[in-house]
Amino acid sequence: MINIVLFGKPGAGKGTQAEFLKGKYNLTHLSTGDIFRFNIKNETELGKLAKTYMDKGDLVPDEVTIQMLQSEVDNNPDSAGFLFDGFPRTLAQAGALDRFLESKGQQITATVALEADDEILVQRLLERGKTSGRPDDQDEEKIRNRYDEYNEKTAPLMDYYKEQEKFYAVDGIGSIADITERLSTVIDNL
Ligand code: ADP
Repeated sequence: MINIVLFGKPGAGKGTQAEFLKGKYNLTHLSTGDIFRFNIKNETELGKLAKTYMDKGDLVPDEVTIQMLQSEVDNNPDSAGFLFDGFPRTLAQAGALDRFLESKGQQITATVALEADDEILVQRLLERGKTSGRPDDQDEEKIRNRYDEYNEKTAPLMDYYKEQEKFYAVDGIGSIADITERLSTVIDNL
């Protein structure tokens, strides 16, 4: 069983790459952003709550996010492994994930980061915002706030996984196929 955390700043291409990797390695793809957006679309209580944070580019509170993620894992008992996309995003989430997996006799195999320069990513998100319909992609101030959230709360996770010797990084600039290739090289060598 392999469990991979796909790591990267907003717009780094996690979702795009996850689409390829999940098929290639038979992994269950869990994107917390997608799950929140699904809940917003269906106007669930969780969706209504998440929306108040997401629309501003703030992180949804840990408690809510951790609980949601755990129930998604529990809903896939036959999975051959998970591809976590957009989770964990805080140290509290990373610790909770480790403890949760451990309670199931599992662990994170590796964290793979897609690296790219902030300015390129901000432009990508503004471009995506023209067609994605995502309120958090349409306003440069909200996008910048997501980067502030990332720098303050998510970036420290790199050290967390480095200490566990589970951190790998690939260059996130290039064609989609080239980047899939880079990620595959890391995963194949685990
Ligand atoms: P991106 O990586 O482009 O910002 P996502 O779809 O991963 O897009 O996330 C969109 C928003 O969903 C985040 O800005 C945040 O509000 C919320 N979100 C997603 N994952 C988490 C998480 N693990 N913890 C807290 N909030 C999250």
